Amino acid sequence: MDFDLSDEQLEIKRSVREFAEREIRPHVMEWDEAQHFPLELIPKLAALGLMGVTFPAEYGGAGLGYVEYTIAIEELARVDGSVAIIVAAHHSLCAGHIYISGTEEQKRKYLVPLARGEKLGCWSLTEPEAGSDASGTRTTARREGNHWVLNGSKTFTSNGSYADICVAMAVTDPSAPKHGISAFIIEKGTPGFRPGKKENKLGLRASDTTEVIFEDCRIPAENCLGRPGEGFIDSLKVLEKGRISIAALAVGMAQGAYEAALGYARQRRQFGRPIAEFQAIQWKLADMATEIDASRLLTYRAARLADQGRRVQREGSMAKLFAGETAVRVASEAVQIYGGYGFIKDYPVEKFYRDVKLCTIGEGTSEIQRMVIAREILKAGC
Ligand SMILES: Cc1cc2nc3c(=O)[nH]c(=O)nc-3n(C[C@H](O)[C@H](O)[C@H](O)COP(=O)(O)OP(=O)(O)OC[C@H]3O[C@@H](n4cnc5c(N)ncnc54)[C@H](O)[C@@H]3O)c2cc1C
Repeated sequence: MDFDLSDEQLEIKRSVREFAEREIRPHVMEWDEAQHFPLELIPKLAALGLMGVTFPAEYGGAGLGYVEYTIAIEELARVDGSVAIIVAAHHSLCAGHIYISGTEEQKRKYLVPLARGEKLGCWSLTEPEAGSDASGTRTTARREGNHWVLNGSKTFTSNGSYADICVAMAVTDPSAPKHGISAFIIEKGTPGFRPGKKENKLGLRASDTTEVIFEDCRIPAENCLGRPGEGFIDSLKVLEKGRISIAALAVGMAQGAYEAALGYARQRRQFGRPIAEFQAIQWKLADMATEIDASRLLTYRAARLADQGRRVQREGSMAKLFAGETAVRVASEAVQIYGGYGFIKDYPVEKFYRDVKLCTIGEGTSEIQRMVIAREILKAGC
């Protein structure tokens, strides 16, 4: 087993880190406090190939794998989780769904500009009454001649206010619950399609999380994504890979919080010496480093399996569960190491503390990950 990154992967890590330090770090708190969605950053992310890392070059992507994508998300999140989740929702959810289920024509029309970063994507599954149980979707799509007419509302859509292309799930056959849900591609500006309330969030405040509303929204019949009735099943496949993104987001934010705490522990003096010399602080740092490493290994394993074309229900959920819960613990310990200063916005760890919580909720809560893992191990018998 080779645990080293290749030269190309190390170069991606170095260039994304340098980009994040230069283009994102100076603005992190300003964007967070103003809830400023950094739309101006998208062309720069696109120029680095980060809006379409895993898609083949013929579809406008960088032609790399999930390991490289994971490294990129991790490095963005190390500096700002908001930017990382903007890319993740665009890449692995919206564009990823079109890549998995789209026709050749849909890929040419929608995936290419998404992968090039010329257009921004969002993905709407969650509804007010359908969160963990997405089969409870109530948004409907009714066939009328050569069109589908969508009605309903989605909640918590990342990038929802700014996206040019939305992939949304709606019920097309109410008599067949899970098999009656289909996926659709909706373009910004389509009459009857609009973002609703923007959420005022605990963390990841520079990202956009918004209600998305459909009111007699007519879209061409050819904008049904995948086979009618298979939108729910395809969504589960999309989420399988999406969970690797959230695991990478968690690893990156945990790493950012840990590095800040390590630096602070070395320079903060109490009782006449650096607090890093106290065993209580050393043990915290040791646990943080160990758990981050374990999270990263689980995440890279899931990414590598995905690159081999294998299903990663179990491995993706394990990575997301462990990395998400690790990030919450690490950020909490980072605040503890900073003492009172950890509670103050002049220092970086309070933001990590707020931001990491999303990792145990988005794209399936920790409870749902445990259900998935349990189902997979019981099925396999080991
Ligand atoms: C910042 C942010 C960004 C998001 N981005 C997107 C997006 O881009 N697109 C999108 O579609 N959605 C998005 N979501 C929605 C997210 O995926 C849901 O919030 C999540 O799946 C949980 O659903 P819920 O909030 O309705 O919680 P609920 O499903 O109501 O869960 C509430 C609690 O009950 C527990 N629970 C539920 N069912 C069970 C069970 N069977 N067994 C044990 N415990 C259970 C949950 O684990 C949780 O603790 C986003 C959410 C946030 C906060």
